[in-house]
Amino acid sequence: MRQIQHYVDGSSMAGTSDRFGDVFNPNTGEVQARVCLATAAELDAAVQVAAKAQIGWAATNPQRRARVMFDFKRLVEGRMDGLAEILSSEHGKVIADSKGDIQRGLEVIEFACGIPHILKGEYTEGAGPGIDVYSMRQPLGVCAGITPFNFPGMIPMWMFGIAIAVGNSFILKPSERDPTLPVRLAELLMEAGAPAGVLNVVHGDKVAVDAILHHPLIRAVSFVGSSDIASYVYATGAANGKRVQAMGGAKNHGVILPDADLDQAVKDLIGAAYGSAGERCMALPVVVPVGEKTAVALREKLLTEIDTLRIGVSTDASAHYGPVVSAAHKARIENYIQMGVDEGAELVVDGRGFTLQGYENGFFVGPTLFDHVKPEMKTYQEEIFGPVLQIVRAETFEEALRLPSEHPYGNGVAIFTRNGRAAREFASRVNVGMVGINVPIPVPVAYHTFGGWKRSAFGDTNQHGVEGVKFYTKVKTITARWPEGSVEDSAFVIPTMK
Ligand code: NAD
Repeated sequence: MRQIQHYVDGSSMAGTSDRFGDVFNPNTGEVQARVCLATAAELDAAVQVAAKAQIGWAATNPQRRARVMFDFKRLVEGRMDGLAEILSSEHGKVIADSKGDIQRGLEVIEFACGIPHILKGEYTEGAGPGIDVYSMRQPLGVCAGITPFNFPGMIPMWMFGIAIAVGNSFILKPSERDPTLPVRLAELLMEAGAPAGVLNVVHGDKVAVDAILHHPLIRAVSFVGSSDIASYVYATGAANGKRVQAMGGAKNHGVILPDADLDQAVKDLIGAAYGSAGERCMALPVVVPVGEKTAVALREKLLTEIDTLRIGVSTDASAHYGPVVSAAHKARIENYIQMGVDEGAELVVDGRGFTLQGYENGFFVGPTLFDHVKPEMKTYQEEIFGPVLQIVRAETFEEALRLPSEHPYGNGVAIFTRNGRAAREFASRVNVGMVGINVPIPVPVAYHTFGGWKRSAFGDTNQHGVEGVKFYTKVKTITARWPEGSVEDSAFVIPTMK
């Protein structure tokens, strides 16, 4: 059986733990490879390599570091088809969606190509007599990233793209469920000219994560995954003196006002709810029609669209979505569907028991629709992370605004309307981190920043954009005095600017 090894110091490193994780082909349900799960000693070996590499890398001028990013982008673009196939074969998302996953990561690399400009510091000439003040952003040292299964291309690039461009070295601990693409990305970064040891991939589970959180040489940890683990990573990393940003789960709402272009909104909703089998932190699994008439029309149009959905293997170019990532995740989604029934929601379309001819053991779940879901239901409160859309009916704008605002998660939200004033008020008042106005998946572009609120994010800096640069650097401020003339007297009080 194929073994997926760590990637340290520019080459493969065999695992020594004798512990492995199964990597499935979600289309067939078969185990296709085994990934090494690291020990704390293996993680330490990678950190020592990264710490050594970081010194020379930080001393490399930013323009040269940017050139590596330019070359990396070109290499990834040239291999897009093959990389997307690798991604799909372990994750299960369709090829076109895998290309989107990699492309969104490359957009952060494009941002990182501008790092010489972004890193320019601040300067004040003549802050006092003969005094100039300037500040600079310096890299932290060794940083680490712990990533989820659902974006094995984009999320690692969110992290290492910026961390490395500003002069850090990086340890990436990708999801053990789809670990091959991150290793390919690290190999391509070396091919693009990054010195060995600047990006290292260490596979693993809780043992590797805990080793990262306790390692004294790791200065910052970026995490993306589910909320309970995000909260643990944040608390443990911070208790060990690290800078931590930890993005968690989500339950994003799409609010439909009575004046919305319903045909367009339904098309948008279907893609956002069922695309990638609902395994996106910016999916829209909850729709809130305002008013009875909107709800009735919405339900009818949703049913028509759901009827046209095609579920297929990840290589089927005509499929709208493929299998979910594992048998355990499929069972979890199906349990939530049963829970929804038991809680009294109306199961309008049941995706359980869906099978694809020739792929009977694949991890497929059909599109599922619930109506009359109530805020107190557990299936509404919790993240399902599957192709399940819940209709929660609201009578007024205020009620629709309250639902996402009071929900424990606060990643993204969307409003569909033709009324600019209502959209503006909604965007201003809603208690959620990222808002779409007639945009179903409002993932900000790379030069803005990505981050939710409430249980969707722990820590206070977002991913990528200027916030990302701040996360991976520390500010140094220099006050320089070049006095003229005679010796000045000693000062025994704090200097002030009069
Ligand atoms: P997960 O929390 O199971 O795993 C994330 C990472 O944590 C993996 O690298 C995994 O190996 C590690 N991990 C797992 N169990 C651990 C433990 N007990 N202790 C320490 N580390 C552990 O998440 P997932 O299932 O891979 O990804 C899906 C989740 O990620 C969803 O909740 C989704 O909403 C969330 N997500 C959030 C964002 C965001 O930006 N907010 C983006 C993508 C995904």
